[in-house]
Formats: sequence, structure tokens, C-alpha cells
Amino acid sequence: MSLHVAVVGGGVGGLCLAQGLTRNGVSVSVHERDVTSTDRLQGYRLHISPIGARALHECLPPELWERFVATTGRGGGGFGFLDERLRRLLTVENPADVPARAHHSVSRITLREILLTGLDDVVGFGRRFTRYEHEDGRLTVHFADGTSTRCDVLVGADGANSAVRAQYLPHAERVDTGITAVAGKLPLTPRTRAWLPPELVAHAHSVIPRAAAGMFLAPHELAEDGYLMWAYAAAGLVLPANRPLRDVVADAITGWHPDLVRVVRESPHDSVSH
Ligand SMILES: Cc1cc2nc3c(=O)[nH]c(=O)nc-3n(C[C@H](O)[C@H](O)[C@H](O)COP(=O)(O)OP(=O)(O)OC[C@H]3O[C@@H](n4cnc5c(N)ncnc54)[C@H](O)[C@@H]3O)c2cc1C
Repeated sequence: MSLHVAVVGGGVGGLCLAQGLTRNGVSVSVHERDVTSTDRLQGYRLHISPIGARALHECLPPELWERFVATTGRGGGGFGFLDERLRRLLTVENPADVPARAHHSVSRITLREILLTGLDDVVGFGRRFTRYEHEDGRLTVHFADGTSTRCDVLVGADGANSAVRAQYLPHAERVDTGITAVAGKLPLTPRTRAWLPPELVAHAHSVIPRAAAGMFLAPHELAEDGYLMWAYAAAGLVLPANRPLRDVVADAITGWHPDLVRVVRESPHDSVSH
């Protein structure tokens, strides 16, 4: 009897696993609750570390790996740590010019498209997992539309609110850390480049102030356009419904380097989300 793996969740993790299993001749099916691959705008760029790059290199067929490398934006190399006044604490240089051992900046939407390529017969949409049962050494996996599937191994790749985990490890609950994060995008244009510190456009940074807060900044540069993504996170950050998010963040970081405050203030409202 050949082994069949059922993966619940067609996000980046589930799809990468499906590519790797398919490449190694293991029977796999992915069950995704979204009705289509473009149901939700899966925003922002992702920073892929060398470990992530190696995993993608091992899991993707060579032509998809080449496509991944070709679609990564500039701005993936190296990683810096700064304090809130933009004083350099540490820079970890990108050691490798070999793509499989490098940092990469990639659009989540593009990465997902690449990961979906060739999996038409593997990925099923509109399949919301509800529960599983053990039966005769195998598993029966049930979906909200009343259908079910049988498998030998079930993988919960259904994200941070995993329903698979909720059944398998009911004691492993999510813990609210009390930390709120707000993210936005500053377009990279001749005007913004004129005042942006060059290092912020060169590679990703983590800003570590003395207070219990932090900001991640990363450029995503493509041939024609690009943006500087930022994400501010802090304990106890209150987001009043009647105030634009970027103003709340800009106020919270008053006293930080003026260029960091400006990055936030000049990000378009519609690029900023909680
Ligand atoms: C603003 C932001 C920036 C980030 N930046 C980075 C970054 O630079 N680098 C990085 O590595 N990570 C980053 N992350 C984290 C990254 O997004 C997650 O680690 C990653 O998405 C996890 O992948 P996943 O496949 O495990 O889960 P997800 O991407 O969440 O995918 C889970 C999938 O499961 C599906 N699903 C959920 N419930 C069910 C169900 N009951 N039945 C069927 N399907 C279901 C969902 O629809 C979804 O498609 C960022 C996150 C955010 C919010």
C-alpha cells in the first residue's frame, strides 16, 4: 500500500511541502478553505532567510526554483540591527552569492503562484477542514462541505489558528502576548529616495529601541517600482477607531529618528493595516 499525505492549508508552508513530496514521489493532496487561489490579497513581501532558500531549493523542481530566483526583488541581502536613532548595532552580511544560500525578498503573491504551479491535481479549493477520525490505522479527514478523504499522514498547515492543531493538541492554545502590530508600505520613488537613509533601501533591518517596542523595515525593489515595508509592534498599543493607523504609530515613535517617523507619516493610508 502506498502512503498518502493529506495537507490541510494551502499557504506557503502547505504548498512548499506539497511540492517537496511530489518531487520525491510521495502521494499528497492539499485541502484549502479558500474557494480560489486569489480569494484574499495576501499582501506584503516576505523575507526568505538562507534556511528558507535552501528548503525552497530542495522542494521545488529546478524550473520553479529558477522562476523563484528570477522574481525575487533586490533588497534581500544582509540583515541589520539599528537603535531608534538609526545608530548601527550590528549588520549580518549576506554571505552567499549562491541563491540557494542567500536572503531573498519576494512578493507573497508571486511566491504562492510559483508554489501552486504544477499542483492542479493536488490542491483542492473550497475545502474547509472540520475534524479527523482514526480508523483502521488510517485517518478520515472531514470538510465543511460534507466531503471527506482518507490518508495515512495528516499535516496541519492551516496557519496560526490551526483547526487541526485544535483537535490534535487541544491544550496548545494561542496566548495573547498583548503585542499589537501595524504594517505599511512607503513607495520607493525619486522623491522618497532623496531623503531615505541609503542603508534602509539596501536590505532589511530590525529597529530595537530601549522601550518595549520594535520595528521591522525591508525594501522590496523590482525593476519598475518598489516599496519599503515597515511593521511596528508594541505592547499595549491602543488603536482608536477614529484615528488613522499611521498617525497612531507616528505618535508612538515620536523621539525616534525623524526619518523613521517620516517613513510612517508618508506611507499611503491604504497601505497601512493592523
Ligand atoms: C505583515 C506580515 C509580514 C510577514 N513577513 C514575513 C517574512 O518576511 N518572512 C517570513 O518568513 N514570514 C513572514 N510573516 C509570517 C508568515 O506570513 C507566516 O509565517 C506564514 O504565512 C506561515 O505560513 P503557513 O503556510 O504556515 O500559514 P498561512 O500562510 O497562514 O496559510 C494557512 C492556510 O491555511 C488555510 N486554512 C486555514 N484554516 C483552514 C481550514 N480549517 N481548512 C482548510 N484550510 C484552512 C488558510 O486559508 C491559508 O491559506 C509575515 C506575516 C505578516 C502578517
